[in-house]
Amino acid sequence: MANLPLNIDYTGKVVVVTGAGGLICGAMARAFAQSGAKVAALDLNEEAVKKLADEAKAEGCIMEGYKANVLDPEALKAVHDQVVADLGPCDILVNGAGGNNPRATCDNEYQHEAWDGCKTFFDLDQSGVDFVFKLNFQGTLLPTQAFARDMVEKKSGVILNISSMNAYTPLTKIPAYSGAKAAISNFTQWLATHFAGTGIRCNAIAPGFLVSAQNKGLLFNEDGTPTARSAKILNGTPTRRFVDADELIGATLFLCDDRAASAITGVVLPVDAGFAAYSGV
Ligand code: NAD
Repeated sequence: MANLPLNIDYTGKVVVVTGAGGLICGAMARAFAQSGAKVAALDLNEEAVKKLADEAKAEGCIMEGYKANVLDPEALKAVHDQVVADLGPCDILVNGAGGNNPRATCDNEYQHEAWDGCKTFFDLDQSGVDFVFKLNFQGTLLPTQAFARDMVEKKSGVILNISSMNAYTPLTKIPAYSGAKAAISNFTQWLATHFAGTGIRCNAIAPGFLVSAQNKGLLFNEDGTPTARSAKILNGTPTRRFVDADELIGATLFLCDDRAASAITGVVLPVDAGFAAYSGV
């Protein structure tokens, strides 16, 4: 087994990870594969998941990459059928595809600080707001419809959603993304309750601040120096650090294991270096 933070044997389990072409879910898909699982790595970016799967296979792991749009139910159904044919019915679903969009992001933190040419709250693009809510909320609901039926039939399974720190308290500038992730935390509880009698558990991880393609522009200036926002994040984090994508692996492997987390369903686990706990004083 690779150098993972938790040695849990997932041999024989079929794990479907959406957004596996990205930073966080690529690391999660790799960790499941290194733990023995048969992994279906799904992403809109086919090249990224094919590359991830090739690398996993070169390490002796079982992983297939699939092009999949989490907002297209027909395409998800087709991918589901292909995953079942290739690897078997789904045991664990990680709903990782998600993110923000610049069209739903204000330039200014506070209305009274708006400047000439600034994109304010009043300029937010309705289609951008729709995009963010759709991607995060429906992009979790639709893959769950496509893959959780397998779990209902098996009377066991695990769903892991990806929420965020902004689900607890919204972050300035990104109202749609904050609201959409709050919806994910809420939906995690809903699913846990809805599937409670079927043997399926549903939990979420709320990652703290990572540096990724998605938020790089907000955290670093073009010359690589931290923005004022980065400084605020670090000052608001009692451990004064960002979180590394690999630091989500322990929580992921723990929450998806039916022995270790047998009585845990409906929780949102922060992996945030203390951000949610700190009042700033
Ligand atoms: P990322 O941009 O690296 O990865 C997201 C992946 O989702 C990309 O590979 C993208 O191609 C894929 N994707 C986008 N739309 C899709 C669609 N319609 N269908 C299928 N795939 C699609 O982002 P990340 O930082 O790895 O984020 C992963 C998850 O974690 C997201 O839900 C994000 O909102 C959440 N999150 C990220 C952070 C952070 O700081 N990076 C913090 C909290 C939560």
